[in-house]
Amino acid sequence: MSLPDELAAGANDRARADHVDALRRYVADHRRLFVLTGAGISTGSGIPDYRDRDGGWKGATPIQHQAFVAQLSMRKRYWARSMAGWPPVARAKPNAGHAALARLGVAGRIEMLVTQNVDGLHEAAGNAGVVDLHGRLDRVICLDCGTRLSRHRVQDMLIEANSTWLHDSDAIRPDGDIELGEVDYERFVVPDCPVCRGILKPDVVFFGGAVPRPVVARAWNGLASAHAVLVAGSSLMVWSGYRFVREAARNGVPVMAVNHGRTRADDLITHKLDDDCVALLAEAID
Ligand SMILES: [Zn+2]
Repeated sequence: MSLPDELAAGANDRARADHVDALRRYVADHRRLFVLTGAGISTGSGIPDYRDRDGGWKGATPIQHQAFVAQLSMRKRYWARSMAGWPPVARAKPNAGHAALARLGVAGRIEMLVTQNVDGLHEAAGNAGVVDLHGRLDRVICLDCGTRLSRHRVQDMLIEANSTWLHDSDAIRPDGDIELGEVDYERFVVPDCPVCRGILKPDVVFFGGAVPRPVVARAWNGLASAHAVLVAGSSLMVWSGYRFVREAARNGVPVMAVNHGRTRADDLITHKLDDDCVALLAEAID
């Protein structure tokens, strides 16, 4: 290591130690936390983030709600990619960041855990009562009759109807979507609802879709009872999460955010730690 590199490494270690101290103090000072997590906590479980350090889009734009509902060709494309992208998401395991928040929950320090992630990893880590703001990828609903199916069952239906379509790749995206090369999506067979032959949709909020009112209401109640907000691994670019930070700031409730890079709410956040949220949570929460 050259001298400048050594100095930089030393500075990074000191920054990490300062961040660990700051997070530890924040958790000690506020008895009941409203915790909001985003893609940054799941990257450590192999589920990549949509946005880069500046909050811009990485790669292709994800599917839009209206296009999915209105166009069979979009549903063919979505389910073809999802069939390939689901197995690695289904296999993903909670990481040290999820485990740290589970410890905090068991210790009775979390008023409410709200996540923008659709992977179910907080629940898998042991957090109870998680508010899944954008739904869950392991569930599928019928848009016509409301029947709910497990994503595992729908995977069997997809494979049965499209035996030659099973691809595997590392290029997964947070919604379980996957990059496939030049493929003929028109040949893909989309299974219908087994009850009413209606349209099946993963039970997640696509871009352009709305978070269900009861889910938002639960989150608002949690925020109203909390003493402080802790944001972990979210750039808060999406309104569904940003609004809680905005409301907290409006009411003088402290907000700490642990995130790599810029967030949309940097001017509202009282304590900003530009750092890896998984490593920091794991170190700071005993
Ligand atoms: Zn149905």
